[in-house]
Amino acid sequence: MTHTATANAQTAAAGTPPAADAIRYTVSFPAPHTHYMEVTASVPTGGRADVELMMAVWTPGSYLVREFERNVENVTAANASGTALRVEKSDKNRWRIASGGAPTISVHYRVYAREMSVRTNWVEASFALINGAPTFLTLADMTSRPHEVILLPAAGWRRSMTGLPALAGGDHRYRAPDFDTLVDSPILLGNPAIYEFTVDGKPHYLVNEGEAGVFDGARAAKDFEAVVRETRRFWGELPYDKYVMLNVISEVGGGLEHKNSAVLMTSRWNTRTRRPYLGWLELASHEFFHAWNVKRLRPVELGPFDYENEVHTRSLWIAEGVTDYYADLIVHRAGLSSREEYLDGLSAKIEEIQTTPGRTVQSAELASYDAWIKYYRPDENSPNVTISYYTKGAVLAFLLDAKIRKATAGAKSLDDVMRAAYARYSGPRGYTPDEFRQVAEQVAGTRLNGFWDAAVQGTAELDYAEALETLGLRFRSTGVPNPTRAWLGATTRNDAGRLVVSQVRRDTPAMAAGLNVDDEILAIGDFRVRADQLATRLEQYKPGDRVPMLVARRDQLLRLDVTFGAEPPRAWRLEVNPAATDAQVTRLGQWLQPKS
Ligand SMILES: [Zn+2]
Repeated sequence: MTHTATANAQTAAAGTPPAADAIRYTVSFPAPHTHYMEVTASVPTGGRADVELMMAVWTPGSYLVREFERNVENVTAANASGTALRVEKSDKNRWRIASGGAPTISVHYRVYAREMSVRTNWVEASFALINGAPTFLTLADMTSRPHEVILLPAAGWRRSMTGLPALAGGDHRYRAPDFDTLVDSPILLGNPAIYEFTVDGKPHYLVNEGEAGVFDGARAAKDFEAVVRETRRFWGELPYDKYVMLNVISEVGGGLEHKNSAVLMTSRWNTRTRRPYLGWLELASHEFFHAWNVKRLRPVELGPFDYENEVHTRSLWIAEGVTDYYADLIVHRAGLSSREEYLDGLSAKIEEIQTTPGRTVQSAELASYDAWIKYYRPDENSPNVTISYYTKGAVLAFLLDAKIRKATAGAKSLDDVMRAAYARYSGPRGYTPDEFRQVAEQVAGTRLNGFWDAAVQGTAELDYAEALETLGLRFRSTGVPNPTRAWLGATTRNDAGRLVVSQVRRDTPAMAAGLNVDDEILAIGDFRVRADQLATRLEQYKPGDRVPMLVARRDQLLRLDVTFGAEPPRAWRLEVNPAATDAQVTRLGQWLQPKS
């Protein structure tokens, strides 16, 4: 998945011998209903007296140490004559094997596979989703070498689908030119519904596991093809030989990008109603856009990967946020969402930023850098002190796009920045934050340090006036949602009928009154309030009313005095300004439908 990997793949394809002997894995599923796979690895040792194997502790695109090795058991090893070799755990994710000079050893282990997510493994009677990082032990010295995979599907499983190139000798045999490509190439086995289409002569597959006669695969494939064509129009070329979109219908959400594939997880019901279906299209569009932005055009830190330690970058707002901006925009440009639907989605992102107190605490660059310890490890205080680099990055992309359109009188846009950055920095090294900014400045023809200081590296309130003026948009005034109803500003949950506080945001009546997360609200104004009664009870009061509230905190009763407020206005819904000038209407069209 790194650029080193691409270079190796191209060299190998050109006929140069690989740098080192291959590791060959045989993966079998003798009892898939127990959620186990069995892996036998034939490992070349170079004649060493002992070798060390390691399992990745994280997987690229998902920035959290997950300790995949916790699902590995029964690691054993033998030489060619079948003599057992001593295996010793040498680190949490490493095994040292006394190979005794044998040129090749056979290593066997089992992997428990029952975590349904885009980055982990799932094995059950009807199918398996295998990711590289949580499955394949490799030589810890990380010498670049091919990694071959021979799958032995369980009885009744007919297909295996993956971005990996095929290995000669039959079905279900694959060959990664290096470990990075193996980690970057999830595999789905079973009997999925497969939809194939061709763009630029290259095959594309939408692979749906679990349609169950509910998920409309044919429609999803047709619309995904439109996304592929629009994204190809954006970048100008397709940078792979084939593309495999693995879509696991599982009632779990999420997506994870790879160089020529991705894994999506989605609800079975998402093709039945409009907004969830748009959500699926935007998810597919997001992961597909990543085939360029982050898998090839990448921050300098994201490759070659250290699979045993965190890798920090300040640029996830570009890798994820800019991708999220274009995910929705490309769905619209492809004719799959209306202008109102597109603006509604962008408005929701703006509203999320503007109503999250953490926007004044954490910058887009620091949100990126601390993804491992903050974004991926949220707690009840997260909204007060963090901001999503996805959401803020998408909003920054919108503001930057408009700024460039204004600076160049509509001649250039963020589209041109992405294409220029791709041309310059999709090679083996990647880009630094300064280099990405410099590309943007060259396209804009002006310095952007003010925007970067305030909006990218700083936590200043974002200024939307310029973008709205440039594109002929305005925020629809929605006023105060409930001007006469009391507002507490705490988030609560129904815990078996108990009304329990789950979040207290800054600058709310709840925080001012000393209400804590996990407090059980028992009564407001001396009257019992149950979990389903909070909203109607608040209607009994006005903003400014001061009322005693009885809560239980660690089983002790406390009386708090709350002064209710009014819910802040939500003034962040974009609409086209009916008084827009011809020039504004032209720029709006160039933004939303650049090809017309
Ligand atoms: Zn992403």
